[in-house]
Amino acid sequence: MPDPLTDLIANNRRWVAGVNASDPTFFQKLAQQQRPQYMWIGCCDSRVPANEIIGLLPGQVFVHRNVGNVVQANDLNCMSAVQYAVEVLGIPHLIVCGHYNCGAVNASLDDLAHGLIDYWIWPIKEIQRRNPWVMKLPRERIGNAMGELNVLEQVANLAECKVLRRAWSENRAVDLTGWIYDVGDGRLRTLLVRLDRDSDVRALVAKAGEEIHARLGA
Ligand SMILES: [Zn+2]
Repeated sequence: MPDPLTDLIANNRRWVAGVNASDPTFFQKLAQQQRPQYMWIGCCDSRVPANEIIGLLPGQVFVHRNVGNVVQANDLNCMSAVQYAVEVLGIPHLIVCGHYNCGAVNASLDDLAHGLIDYWIWPIKEIQRRNPWVMKLPRERIGNAMGELNVLEQVANLAECKVLRRAWSENRAVDLTGWIYDVGDGRLRTLLVRLDRDSDVRALVAKAGEEIHARLGA
């Protein structure tokens, strides 16, 4: 039986040759240091690859992905990545990107038992409870609305985490943006843009939530 991974190594060699052809010093320079200007917090979904969507090369975006692009203060993995991004790499722009047709969001909408993942998506379920208008939407819009509200929630959580609090208290220029990605057409939509230390995050999140309600509830 052929090794299903052989193609991937061959792809890798072709990719390296292509990169070297356009910039022979690319890997040499990248090996010295990474200086990304963006951190991407997104979902694991294979249809939402950070670099490709925003057209950035290796070294240009620092990526953390988990199921449902969840940001929780008690998630050591996510929080360590955020700390490294802000405090070590000095990244000024943090982006939370959710997407439509998200399996984690969809799983939060039913009352079935999914196993371990139910603990992980509990914070997404809570969004539904706090926004009872969502479940009154036409069925086909519920997942999209929840996907967007989930982005707002995770941006708010990011704004409140210790790393951001410290960065903002030290006057460091770090801002937070929330996007939703449409897997059906490849386009990003901005939900929240560049919230910083001077922003009233909760008020802006509430306003963005009202806009989602007005747009998807119409
Ligand atoms: Zn997803």
